[in-house]
Amino acid sequence: MASFFRRKKDKDAAAGSGETRKGGLDIEALAAAFPKAPGSTGTVPAREDGAAEAAAPPETPPRDQDGATEAVPAAAVVEAAPPAVTEPPPAAALAPPPAPAAAPEPEPSPSSPAQEKPAAAPGKPGWRERLRGSGFARGLGGLFSRNPKLDDDLLDEIETALITADVGVTATTELVEQLRKRMKAREFADAAALLAALRAELVALLQPVAKPLAIDAAAKPFVVLTVGVNGVGKTTTIGKLAKRYKDEGRGLMLAAGDTFRAAAVAQLQAWGERNGVAVVAQGQNADAASVAFDALQAAKARGVDVLIADTAGRLHTQQGLMAELGKIRRVLGKIDPTAPHEVLMVIDGTTGQNALSQLRQFHAAVNVTGLVVTKLDGSAKGGVVFALAREFGIPIRYAGIGERPEDLRVFDAEAFVEALLPDELGRA
Ligand code: GDP
Ligand code: GDP
Ligand code: MG
Repeated sequence: MASFFRRKKDKDAAAGSGETRKGGLDIEALAAAFPKAPGSTGTVPAREDGAAEAAAPPETPPRDQDGATEAVPAAAVVEAAPPAVTEPPPAAALAPPPAPAAAPEPEPSPSSPAQEKPAAAPGKPGWRERLRGSGFARGLGGLFSRNPKLDDDLLDEIETALITADVGVTATTELVEQLRKRMKAREFADAAALLAALRAELVALLQPVAKPLAIDAAAKPFVVLTVGVNGVGKTTTIGKLAKRYKDEGRGLMLAAGDTFRAAAVAQLQAWGERNGVAVVAQGQNADAASVAFDALQAAKARGVDVLIADTAGRLHTQQGLMAELGKIRRVLGKIDPTAPHEVLMVIDGTTGQNALSQLRQFHAAVNVTGLVVTKLDGSAKGGVVFALAREFGIPIRYAGIGERPEDLRVFDAEAFVEALLPDELGRA
């Protein structure tokens, strides 16, 4: 199944060219089947709005507080009543979601989701197109397009560009010193050769953490617990994953474990409806651990393959949040001692070095087993990925490169570096 996402053959075949392996057929199909993401306000902090928007697909009544109070209160659920599972309407009944106000979409947006299988057009925006505007690409790109001389000044400029792109001081120093040694040893004929070496080192830094999430089919269900601070893209990522796993034909269920805001539950329910995936939810302020418990019980009863649980990113206190996540973890373990099978931490790629302390905290509390780095498109600096890889060595499963459902890619070290530092930079 890893190869389904990853398209290793493509990747290997395209190792030097970078052009052919990105944006694939499945992406095409997804783009046409589900062209727009909910809550696409284009601005990062506008989540309340985004969520409200996402919560009101055209043909369904809006759900907010009311929707939430309809659900079974936590206390009533224990053992007796079945959990409040939102059953999705048939996918064909769904109207397309509202248009995002974000970046213009280069591909046609079909007005009917019935157009499921478009001809897969090549040249879709892939990693490179999405990451082009990143601080990383701008900084180093500008540097090399000036056709610089191979000297210490160039190394200093590279150092500055890397630090500016959030690669972090330690990782940057290591990279640059390595290049300096090789330059002094006259290993490089020109700046282009040095750039090639830098690219190779960046890839080498990421390769060990570029490990796709393998879903163990023996785990029924395979439980993914999603964690991360508020606004990083947890719910959006779950929606994207739901779409992906659904398309792979997996039985899927979502748990609305962010009970801190009613809008968060509605946001997840909206994604569930659009993807035809059941969402287990209770009322706002329900015990998140109880929601997780119910969801896992329901998922087991139904023989679901994958259960993805959303969680809050902010509570009244940070310790409160960590305690809640720990409790969710323990409660899942009561039903299945091997659950959760993946603790997937979502990190906003634009948060810079702060991402490191976030990961440190969550890792201490819930033992993070995989990462998703989001918002690598647009203004994202992207360099934090290298710092994360170097410092933690925790697998990076996916990269978020946009707000649409298809904008979640299996993390691929070469594709990522190639997108940040296109090969032709050195041949200006
Ligand atoms: P949560 O609080 O962690 O659940 O975050 P949300 O899923 O609600 O997302 C917060 C905002 O980030 C929303 O506006 C999303 O559309 C946006 N977002 C999520 N992932 C990405 C991404 O990969 N790229 C961009 N540009 N925006 C994203
Ligand atoms: P503790 O808080 O660490 O002592 O863990 P508990 O074993 O008391 O469980 C914590 C939470 O998990 C409870 O408050 C419930 O919300 C949830 N939970 C535990 N067992 C059950 C159960 O049998 N049914 C349901 N619905 N929730 C449960
Ligand atoms: Mg959320």
